[in-house]
Amino acid sequence: MYEAIIGLEIHAEMMTASKMFSGCVVVDSVEAEPNSAVDPLSLGMPGTLPVVNKAAVGMAMRLGLAVGCTINPYNAFARKNYFYPDLPKGYQISQLAHPIATNGFVDIELADGTTKCIRVRRAHMEEDTGKLTHLEDGTSLVDYNRAGVPLLEIVSEPDMRSAEEALAYATQIRHILRYLGVNSGDMEKGVIRFEANVSIRPQGSEELNTRVEVKNLNSFKALTGAIEYEIAKQIATVEAGGEVEQETLGWNEAKRETYSQRSKEDAHDYRYFPEPDLPPLWVDEAWIEAVRAELVELPVVKIGRYKTTFGLSDVDARVIAEELAVTNWFEAAVADGGEPKSVANWLINNLFSLMNEHKVGIEQVKTTPSQLVELLALVAKQTISHNTAKEVLAEMFVTGQGAAEIVQAKGLAQISDEGAIAAVVAEILAAHPNDAAELAAGKDKLRGWFVGQIMRALKGKGNPQLVNKLLDEAIASHKL
Ligand code: ADP
Ligand code: MG
Repeated sequence: MYEAIIGLEIHAEMMTASKMFSGCVVVDSVEAEPNSAVDPLSLGMPGTLPVVNKAAVGMAMRLGLAVGCTINPYNAFARKNYFYPDLPKGYQISQLAHPIATNGFVDIELADGTTKCIRVRRAHMEEDTGKLTHLEDGTSLVDYNRAGVPLLEIVSEPDMRSAEEALAYATQIRHILRYLGVNSGDMEKGVIRFEANVSIRPQGSEELNTRVEVKNLNSFKALTGAIEYEIAKQIATVEAGGEVEQETLGWNEAKRETYSQRSKEDAHDYRYFPEPDLPPLWVDEAWIEAVRAELVELPVVKIGRYKTTFGLSDVDARVIAEELAVTNWFEAAVADGGEPKSVANWLINNLFSLMNEHKVGIEQVKTTPSQLVELLALVAKQTISHNTAKEVLAEMFVTGQGAAEIVQAKGLAQISDEGAIAAVVAEILAAHPNDAAELAAGKDKLRGWFVGQIMRALKGKGNPQLVNKLLDEAIASHKL
């Protein structure tokens, strides 16, 4: 029996306004006109000098602190030298021996409900490369908008043992990055890319064997597919008496298989050396503490709190905690007196469908958390029924009006006056004496019909509970 050993390197673009080492603006790499956001530095012009982007350092510290890393006061940058058309300088500025963050961990949750600690070896800052597009006719196009965009590389220890664990870890890091406002998590735009290091060993062995590295995995599906494929391939190789060779691989999504990019013999020697144009960067305690003080509550902590203090189900807690903006909306409603479970229900069952229908995110929703609380109070007081409340919410969603305002303007308030309802009940029973007698004698099928007649007389606004209760009472007295 074999076990798999997996270590991940996650490359996340940081959402800064400008690039890692210059004031050049960062644009959406999918939407923007190619090469519209470049400057002499991103193009690697001779004589240009890099300057570290302070916002990027702050974001890297945020992630480091969120995963329990030590933030290192002394930071140094290095040149990683190689030639490729997407790298006009001929080298990438990165951190090698002195990264910003080291020795952290995240607890991942597995399908069987258990948790496992995955150690984060380090997180360091670097710059992204440009983007190449290869056309069918053999032409290649290059877009340097992405060249120089701040990247955070988060490197795990080889602590994962399956594709499932790697997926849980990658999902968790992405979730944390989104909460921290460091990365949008928009995988379709390539803002997060994974590199999977995979090896196998006999179960029980403590050794780390030769590994392969699968580069540029840009979706969770590619990540798990590549890992599963490599594990099976390596086991087959070893069982056939062969040896796993150190290789850098790519992933073919169409064929769902890996392919060799380079073997150990032509492994790159990047000839790293200290970046002569950047002095060491010192991060002081005050800065670290300022970043720590502004950290948001992390997803797992929030999910736990929603379950224990608010009594939400695991599923509901997770659905709400998926997006920080949604949690803020939810928590504002609760702070405003909303009962947590019913706020959660209304959010998940009704507000989300309205958001889907109108294709808006929570930030664009006109209805405020306190307006929802007001609506729920009307339901609790039985001023309106649950069904009416759904219609009212749909109206609130479109107009931004308050619940009471709509209920008033549309005359939707329920009739909860017992005397008024009792009078109508008596009237309807009197108008249909034979049916009433049959109902009283136990012909229960007639009950629904009577409720319908009474509701019609009340123009649909009768409080259903009261209507039912008063009809029961009237029938009971009929019997006597
Ligand atoms: P490099 O810098 O050459 O990419 P590192 O030793 O820094 O190599 O490791 C890179 C990644 O590979 C890390 O995520 C680490 O956990 C993982 N890794 C190291 N050894 C193994 C192994 N034998 N099997 C699987 N993953 C490994
Ligand atoms: Mg690597």
